[in-house]
Amino acid sequence: MNPPVPFLDLAATHQEVAEAITQAWAQILAASSFIGGSHVEGFERDWAAYCQTSFAVGVGNGTDALVLALRALDVGAGDEVILPANTFVATAEAVVLAGAVPRFVDVDPDTLLMGAAHVEEALSERTAAVIAVHLFGQMCDMDALAQLCSRRGLALVEDAAQAHGATWRGRRAGSIGDIGCFSFYPGKNLGALGDGGAVVTDDAALAGRVRSMADHGRRAGSKYVHDVVGTNSRLDNVQAAALQIKLPHLDGWNDARRQAIRWYADALEGHDARLVRVVPDAQSVHHLAAVLVPRRDEVAAVLAEQGVASGVHYPVPCHRQAAYAPYASGPLPVCEDAADRLLSLPLFPTITREQVARVGATVRDALPVEVRRAS
Ligand SMILES: *Cc1c(COP(=O)(O)O)cnc(C)c1O
Repeated sequence: MNPPVPFLDLAATHQEVAEAITQAWAQILAASSFIGGSHVEGFERDWAAYCQTSFAVGVGNGTDALVLALRALDVGAGDEVILPANTFVATAEAVVLAGAVPRFVDVDPDTLLMGAAHVEEALSERTAAVIAVHLFGQMCDMDALAQLCSRRGLALVEDAAQAHGATWRGRRAGSIGDIGCFSFYPGKNLGALGDGGAVVTDDAALAGRVRSMADHGRRAGSKYVHDVVGTNSRLDNVQAAALQIKLPHLDGWNDARRQAIRWYADALEGHDARLVRVVPDAQSVHHLAAVLVPRRDEVAAVLAEQGVASGVHYPVPCHRQAAYAPYASGPLPVCEDAADRLLSLPLFPTITREQVARVGATVRDALPVEVRRAS
């Protein structure tokens, strides 16, 4: 049998940067400066520049980035926040943790992204904010969403946790809404070697509020003056050093993901395993290689038998999760149908053409016979 194809090979990607990170970590250990420090400042500067924004604030993880962004925008009790139902649960979790009510909406069947029309249908007098989720690495139509939000006086938050380096008409993920939120969970396109996150914004006051709230609500420059109820959610020096070392590689890694997606497109062409569409205005960074297939669980089982790993992102949309069902306001057919048919294939920067060819052939053979060729 052929060697197994992993879903993700983080260790292979880390070979390129392991020595530099080991050296930086030895210096941090020698200085024993762990919270704050030169790498945090350096990475925040580098990340803001990369994202084409004036400010970046490191935080503990992507979920906290979203909660802090909403709180800093003064979104909370009595407010409704519109978001797509097909996202990682953290997007919805952040809304509830901030004290607001999530309003789930459907998405476009080709891109699986929320558009302005979806948002429009869910608007109410209580709507305070919209969270655009750049799912699988492709940005939403940020021109339409930004126009709608500015016309209605709504805050626009970008959940860019899967979209490090993605662009919409040349503008980077995180830079178009009022604030952009990132996760540096190890498996993301830019991952720490543990948990980490950041917000980016052009608004100095907003950046200052997030920074203060992430650090116990401390007044800037003070030690024991607390103006607001904050929390403890800081990016630490150890993670910031790793991120700073990895950042110069991000564009190359994203290029490699795009190349692998082209190989997948060739391998699956004409078959009933359709890659999520990328529109011409978007440059996707392909966090995941998501395809829509019939009888997904059977296809996944055949792949597993053949040593090909796969995943499902996500098997249950947020409005059908027990924790969030109380907020559901009706069926969302595109999200529900996608949840039954989505299959994520192996994808990581070092994946080879041979590995993609093998996954593609295995998928083709695994498709139900009567629908193997798209009619
Ligand atoms: C990963 C992810 C998050 C949460 O990030 P954590 O760092 O795991 O808290 C939020 N939203 C989306 C879309 C994600 O993929």
